[in-house]
Amino acid sequence: MGRFNGKSVIVTGSSNGIGAATALQFAKEGAQVTITGRKVENLEKLHGEMVKSGTPASNIHIVVGDITNVDVQKKIIEETVSKFGKLDILVNNAGAAFGDDKYQGTSSPDSMNLLEKNLDLNLKSVMNITNIAKPHLIATKGEVVNISSIASLNFGALWHSYYCIAKAALDQLTRAQALELIAQEVRVNSVNPGIVATNFLAATGIPDEASKKIYDYVATQRKAFPADRVGVPDDIANVILFLADRKASYYIGRVFIQTPKQTISEYAHY
Ligand code: NDP
Repeated sequence: MGRFNGKSVIVTGSSNGIGAATALQFAKEGAQVTITGRKVENLEKLHGEMVKSGTPASNIHIVVGDITNVDVQKKIIEETVSKFGKLDILVNNAGAAFGDDKYQGTSSPDSMNLLEKNLDLNLKSVMNITNIAKPHLIATKGEVVNISSIASLNFGALWHSYYCIAKAALDQLTRAQALELIAQEVRVNSVNPGIVATNFLAATGIPDEASKKIYDYVATQRKAFPADRVGVPDDIANVILFLADRKASYYIGRVFIQTPKQTISEYAHY
C-alpha cells in the first residue's frame, strides 16, 4: 500500500527535472498522476518510466501544452477530474528564468517584456490554475505545493532579476492562498530549492557544457551548500511529497527555503 494510494495528483512541468522526479515518486507511492508540459517526447519517456516502475497505465494521464495558456490550465484540471474522478494534490512546479542576457537593467526597452514573461509563467499561471482547481480541492480537502526558489530571498540580482521578482511574489501568493484556502481545509505550502542539476540552466539558453561547468563549480563552493553538493531532483521531490502528505497537516503557508549555508542565521526567521 503506497503512501498516496487512491490520491489524484497533478504535477505541472513534469516533462523534466524536479517535476518528473516528483511525478514518478507519487506514482510509485500509488497515486494517479497527471503529467504535463510542452515537450510530448519527454512526457512519453516519463510515462514509460512510470509504467516500468509498476504504475498501471490507467493511473497516468498526459496533457501537452503551455501552462501560461488559460485553456491549457482548464484542460489540465478538467481532464484530471474527468479521468480520476477528483483532485487531491496540485503541485505547481512549472517554471523558468527569462534572463536579461545583456544586463541592461530595469529601465531598458526589454524590461517590461522580460518582467511579463517571468510573471506569466512563475506567478500568474500558478494563481490562475489554483483558482480553477479550487472547487475540486475543497471537495477533497486537498493540498497545494508551489515550487518557488531561493531566488525569492532578499538579495539583488542583475541577469535574473525578473525571475527573482516573480518568485518573491509567488511566496506572497503562497501565504495569501494558504490563509484563504485553509478556511476550507485546503493546505498551501511552498518548496524553494537552491541549485538543483536539471534542464533549468539549459532552458535559459546556457549550453549543456557550460551548465555542467556551473554545476561542477558550484559543487566545490562548500560554504554555500549545507549538504556539500548540488541538489538532484529527488532531493526536492522528497520534500514536496512530505508537504503534500496530510501527516504534515500542521504546516500551512510555509515557505521551505533551501538556504545557502552562510545565510542560514540571517534568514533563520523563514
Ligand atoms: P527544468 O527546466 O528541468 O524543468 C522545468 C519544467 O517546467 C519542464 O517540465 C518544462 O516543460 C516546464 N515548463 C517550463 N515552461 C513551461 C510552459 N510555458 N508551459 C508548460 N510547462 C513549462 O527545471 P527544474 O526542474 O529545475 O524547475 C522546476 C521548478 O523548480 C521551476 O519552478 C524552477 O523555477 C524551480 N527551481 C529550480 C532550481 C534549479 O536549480 N534547478 C532552483 C530553484 C527553483 P516543457 O519544457 O516540456 O514545457
